[in-house]
Amino acid sequence: MQLSYGHAVAGRATLFTKSCSRIVEKPSVDVVVAGAGLGGACAALWLSASKRVLLLSGTAPAASGVAAGLINPFAGQRVVPSWHADLAYKDLLDTLAQADASDTYDACGILRTALDKPQSVKLRSLVQEHADSFTWLPPDEAHSRFPYVSAPFGAAITTGGVVDTPKMLEYTHGTIASRCTVLASDLVGWEDTGSGVTVTLKSGPSLHASKLILALGAGYKSFPVLSALNLHCIKGQIVRVRTPESFSHSIPVSGYGYVVPLRDTLILGTTYEHSFQNDQPTKVGSQNILALTQQMVPCIKTADILNTAAGIRVGVPGTRLPMVGPLSGNVWVLTGLGSQGLLFGAHIGRNLVNWITNPEHVPNELRLQKKRRI
Ligand SMILES: Cc1cc2nc3c(=O)[nH]c(=O)nc-3n(C[C@H](O)[C@H](O)[C@H](O)COP(=O)(O)OP(=O)(O)OC[C@H]3O[C@@H](n4cnc5c(N)ncnc54)[C@H](O)[C@@H]3O)c2cc1C
Repeated sequence: MQLSYGHAVAGRATLFTKSCSRIVEKPSVDVVVAGAGLGGACAALWLSASKRVLLLSGTAPAASGVAAGLINPFAGQRVVPSWHADLAYKDLLDTLAQADASDTYDACGILRTALDKPQSVKLRSLVQEHADSFTWLPPDEAHSRFPYVSAPFGAAITTGGVVDTPKMLEYTHGTIASRCTVLASDLVGWEDTGSGVTVTLKSGPSLHASKLILALGAGYKSFPVLSALNLHCIKGQIVRVRTPESFSHSIPVSGYGYVVPLRDTLILGTTYEHSFQNDQPTKVGSQNILALTQQMVPCIKTADILNTAAGIRVGVPGTRLPMVGPLSGNVWVLTGLGSQGLLFGAHIGRNLVNWITNPEHVPNELRLQKKRRI
């Protein structure tokens, strides 16, 4: 969806918003949010409920555009509960309601296949610890309920589900645009003046705001001051295929990668590339994803491939938690959403109004940290 159009006219910034065609000159706002991926969009959504916000949607590709949409409170090979999973899950539901996007989420659960005997033991122990979040399916039951899934060591159905992320972002951007100004321009610099921030855009003159939130995803690399933060980029790829007829449930399957049903397609993922040349999908990446997911859902072998996409996740090495906090008095960073952009983005967005007024309320484990010297 095209949210807005920005261009310089005789040195003046002219903004056309989706919600209203008024022309805004040198807007004076409470908060400028730079970046409109899941991080920036959730932040702008919640902030715009009570503040005058300007959202800079940027021109670089967003990782959020390729997110498979999995809401997995027990993610990863180790199947550990993710940070503040209950709280973040509630914040996600509130965020969807706030964006009028509740119908983009299907709380269908996730079918988690055990990859080997030790993982089968682990999953069964989790069923005992988190009885309200897990249902254990021994191999024969997994086979009879989900015949298109190979689960020789059994599987668990966990809580969670799938967000139709492109639609969720479209609705969220729409709600934001109905409340405040959205400008498709890039941030090129800022100055914290003590009493506020002067924000410099690629197109047009400077803006003045009380606060600036930097939610730039991998775009942080353009700013040396942000490169000092303890961040690491991991490229990820997905392959989209047409749903084979035998894939008869709408529940996503996770184990050897993941297979996520979305409308009449399956999203297959993913790769974790720690060094890469660019953010484009590759043939090798697609081959690896297809080989991985076919071990779990064999009918993928004959599915029609529709397209591929890739994006760059920004994570915080060591904690695997997001990072949020003031870089200087009036300039905040919101980053490190890693593979959990939906849960973490919603949780931070929901709390940001409180946190920017009371920075001491930001949980210690989420505060900004610099790269450690080796
Ligand atoms: C293959 C893949 C699959 C994934 N699957 C899932 C999933 O199933 N579930 C899940 O929860 N998460 C998933 N993720 C993770 C999720 O996509 C990320 O955590 C999330 O998108 C990060 O959001 P972000 O807003 O921090 O960054 P981005 O989405 O990258 O957004 C950054 C924004 O900043 C803008 N920008 C950059 N520079 C500037 C600038 N100078 N000025 C203004 N704007 C700028 C960009 O244009 C963009 O709009 C997946 C990621 C990948 C790569």
